[in-house]
This record gives sequence, C-alpha cells and structure tokens, in this order.
Amino acid sequence: MNSRMTVKMAKDRLAKSGLEATDHRVRVLMAVGNTTHPTTVPEILELVRVSRDINRVTVYRILDLLVEHAVLNRLGLGEKSQRFCLREMDSPGEHPHFHCTRCDRYLCLDAPSLPIDRGALARLALDIDHVEIHLEGICPACQGKESLSDSGKESD
Ligand SMILES: [Zn+2]
Ligand SMILES: [Zn+2]
Repeated sequence: MNSRMTVKMAKDRLAKSGLEATDHRVRVLMAVGNTTHPTTVPEILELVRVSRDINRVTVYRILDLLVEHAVLNRLGLGEKSQRFCLREMDSPGEHPHFHCTRCDRYLCLDAPSLPIDRGALARLALDIDHVEIHLEGICPACQGKESLSDSGKESD
C-alpha cells in the first residue's frame, strides 16, 4: 500500500466520483492518499499547509465532502479521534483497520473484507449503510518484532 498518489491520480479520482477537481480538494486528497496509515486531521492540516494556504474549516468541509462521495473512509467519530484513509474505488465494503492499543497507531489492513452476514442483519430489520471493521491488539513494533516495512537489519 505504498502507491504514491500523483496530482493526476487525485484529479481522476475526484472526476470519477463526480466532483470538480479544485486545487484544495486535490491537495487534501493527496495528503491522505500519500500517507500509508489512516491520517488524522492535524496531520492533514500540516501536509496541506506546506504547499498552500488553506484554512481549517475548508479542510474539514472537503473531508466531509470526500467521505460523502465515497472517496475517503472516516474512522472514529469524535472530532479529535477521527482519521481518514482512501477508499477502494470499486468495492462497496471497506477494508478492516487495526488499532495498536499500546502505541495508539492505526493501520489499514490490505486484507479481503471480512465476511458479514447481511442476511442475519436484515432479519433484525437493520438498514446498514456503514460498516467499520476495527481490530485491536499489539502491533509488530510494540511486540519487538521487525516492522512490516523495515528489514535488512542483519549486521555481522
Ligand atoms: Zn504498537
Ligand atoms: Zn484504511
């Protein structure tokens, strides 16, 4: 999940979702698209500000819009704890997330979506429009194992 999102990719994605590719939208989408973990609002603000002057309210509004148009996933509900990551284009489901309870890091899991028995939910007369799969535990780094990305530590 290291694919870098270019300006062109961001514009294409906005167009496919029926959104006009304004400069600010492109910046916000790229900030999320180029971060490998689910991104917090402060992180997004920092990334966006580096290149352009854009205010907080505008960023929040763009994030809401992108979530509404299924470009981004929103994790967490409180304003402080919410995080954003890219949503796959053609999948109605959302990828699962892992939260490390020790270091508070979040990871997007590149795993096929876990099965959900929609039939059973329908029998309960629940009309589901949002599914968030959230796994908790201890990440490899906190377990003292090599992290997924770094390797080649062998010296001697
Ligand atoms: Zn951890
Ligand atoms: Zn994610």
